[in-house]
Amino acid sequence: MPRTWPTLLALLWGFALALALPREGQSARGSAVDATESRPLVVVRALGPVPQERLRAACRSLLRAYPVRCEIGETRDLLASWSAWNVDRSQLDARAAIDLLFQDRASDAVVELNVTGVDIYEVDKPYVFGLASLTDRIALVSLSRIDNDGGDRLRRRMHKLVLHEVGHSLGLHHHDDPHCVMRQDPTTESLDSAPERLCEACHAALSDTASRLVKPGHAALDRARGHLVRGAYDDARLVLAEILHAGRFDHDLLRGFATAFFEARQYNEAISVLRFVVKQDASAAEAHVDLGLCYQARARDGDIDLAIEHLELALELRPDWALVADHLDALLSAS
Ligand SMILES: [Zn+2]
Ligand SMILES: [Zn+2]
Repeated sequence: MPRTWPTLLALLWGFALALALPREGQSARGSAVDATESRPLVVVRALGPVPQERLRAACRSLLRAYPVRCEIGETRDLLASWSAWNVDRSQLDARAAIDLLFQDRASDAVVELNVTGVDIYEVDKPYVFGLASLTDRIALVSLSRIDNDGGDRLRRRMHKLVLHEVGHSLGLHHHDDPHCVMRQDPTTESLDSAPERLCEACHAALSDTASRLVKPGHAALDRARGHLVRGAYDDARLVLAEILHAGRFDHDLLRGFATAFFEARQYNEAISVLRFVVKQDASAAEAHVDLGLCYQARARDGDIDLAIEHLELALELRPDWALVADHLDALLSAS
């Protein structure tokens, strides 16, 4: 194999997949995001004792600011995260806790927001107000350091933290802009001066993500990714089987599953899904490219020939696809 192969593969893979993703600004426009039932569901849950009013306030913040639905879910006992509790620090390890919360995550939720009264930390930091996982789409917010006088100040702080952490769960990164709630506010003083909303660019990006996630099966795809990054391949396979069983044959969704399994080096599943896609739609050039790349990566006997076959099919369908043509040339000269 030429030394450049993995890089080129990654590039090609990213390129082929990019075609499956909605273009910026397109998906929200003209879609039904304003219809309440077509908004992704955020489930707010208490971790340990938290007044119901705080949970309702979190839902109100989300409903006011984001194109989402919101429900209050079942409270979790703090014991659910006991192994993430650091006895020496008397704090909850937020990252470890999120990992545990993933295990019994509300299955209908696109994002789950957990609110807790205990103090939380991240390694190398004395404390954090909140933390979120993009892969798991779980956010955790602690009231421990913001709830010293209750009332209006608490309400405002919590509103900002909820928007910030759920923003992360919906794909937003930190945004170093004084007018955006995705800026970093590590102290209560800076939190008090933080804005109460997203900047326009972040709001547009979030709305785009929300409209993509609400499509059937996309929450399941997130769940499968969560299992795959943890090495729980059987659980991920079960999720995929449920989707296929439910007859959800949206090709973008299936290619999303194929990508997730490919990235976890579970090539057999990625290949099965993509074979299904090209069987349903033989003119799906991108799926042929994906399939070719999967065969190439799996590299069992006969796989390189199959890789060449599918890359050639893609080129027949789209003769001007230079990146694929170059990749095919490299593959042919190496084989
Ligand atoms: Zn943050
Ligand atoms: Zn922003």
